[in-house]
Amino acid sequence: MFHDRSRYQSSRGYQLAPFRFSPLDGSRYIATNDVGEYVVLPREELVEFISHALPPDREAYKSLKSRHFMFDEYSRVALELLALKYRTRAEQLASFTGLHIFVVTLRCDHSCPYCQVSRQAEGRLDFDMSQEHADQALNFMFRSPSPALKIEFQGGEPLLHFERIRYIVERAKALNQVHGRDLQFVIASNLSRLTDEVLAFCREHGVLLSTSLDGPEALHNAQRPVRGGDSHQRTIDAIRRARQTLGPDAVSALMTTTQASLERVEDIIDEYVRQGFHGIFLRNVSPYGFAVRQRASRQYGVEAWVEFYKRGLAHILRINEQGYPLQEEFTAILLQKLFSPRGSTYVDLQSPSGIGIGALVYNYDGAVYASDEGRMLAEMGDFSFRLGHLSRDSYESIMTSETLLTHLSDTMPEGAPMCGDCAFLPYCGADPVFHQATLGDAVGHKAFSAFCKKQMGVLRHLIGLLEDDSRARDILLGWR
Ligand code: SF4
Repeated sequence: MFHDRSRYQSSRGYQLAPFRFSPLDGSRYIATNDVGEYVVLPREELVEFISHALPPDREAYKSLKSRHFMFDEYSRVALELLALKYRTRAEQLASFTGLHIFVVTLRCDHSCPYCQVSRQAEGRLDFDMSQEHADQALNFMFRSPSPALKIEFQGGEPLLHFERIRYIVERAKALNQVHGRDLQFVIASNLSRLTDEVLAFCREHGVLLSTSLDGPEALHNAQRPVRGGDSHQRTIDAIRRARQTLGPDAVSALMTTTQASLERVEDIIDEYVRQGFHGIFLRNVSPYGFAVRQRASRQYGVEAWVEFYKRGLAHILRINEQGYPLQEEFTAILLQKLFSPRGSTYVDLQSPSGIGIGALVYNYDGAVYASDEGRMLAEMGDFSFRLGHLSRDSYESIMTSETLLTHLSDTMPEGAPMCGDCAFLPYCGADPVFHQATLGDAVGHKAFSAFCKKQMGVLRHLIGLLEDDSRARDILLGWR
């Protein structure tokens, strides 16, 4: 971060506020401050600014002043305004944990090669969550002070243990008569077991569905093997039935990028349009579970994914220009971080990291994890993000545990090497589980970090589009 040593004694017209700068491309720099404002400047203008030599009638002067990169004699309230914006951006921290993931079973009927969990065969009932653990998890969840609580059911395939989902939803609603929170429910499912009974239950209790759709039929079926080989058809049929019963917006979908997807981003996006979706999350594969046991020929580097993302975003912008509203969800999160005074609550891009304080995971066996990826890492034998057990540990002992507090203090990028000087920091995060899995420690040397390369690649591209392409900018600003 750039600190002006003469900040409060300058006799040269204006004083500099703290900010960071990084190259955007060959000739321009991006400067950001701690409240998430940014300005793009040619190198010469940045040098003039830092040298206190920028004339007040220059456009850049006005931009830098209005975005709190400098104070002059006419901006007396600037420091107070800056502090207020900083508090607003951090206020979500006070709400504490809003997302509570209940892993009701590890059993699954699919055998996806990129699966991040140690899924179990359908008959293995010993991998189901007991009612006792469900009760303990609910009591634990209601200890969180968050006014809004989202329960997300995951697996395995959670609908293989629908009775536990039913119990948890009904029990949560009964307990909420006393607690009075804003409750939401989501089932993350491949939808192959979406019966009429499940749909009726979802309608009665306002439960939303989130599923996986990896692209056109052949690609999806190759990536998501199931007995009968018809995962795509089952998913599409279930989406249609769910929309009929629950409404057009009750089902969302996620895709995972594999080596086979890399050349087919346009086909994947077109499939989402064909199926009537207005959002798609271009997700890279994560380095956990079965995904890391794949042959090297099936893995790809982060640079390949960034190219995939850029091509995909260009295609999505063309589709919008043709009149069909479609947004890329990762981009939408970054746009929120770039332009919303409150930033974004997306757990993976927080400082400190969202582990534990943004999301908690109650595993089928009663173990409590700081994040979904943390429990995936544990399935691989690394228990760094295991916080305790529902039967043995209290809310207080888990939320003030050395494990969680150490990770949280380690995951404020403001103090991490490289991040502390990086202009992209206000829009970035820490992702300690990813760094633990790939680099062996939760902070991670960012020069070798695929997370960092992805963030820089995507943010440089996005900010470049916002600066240079007015049609793209108009569309993107509608996604926030
Ligand atoms: S992870 Fe990389 S992009 Fe993100 S703040 Fe740190 S150095 Fe910048």
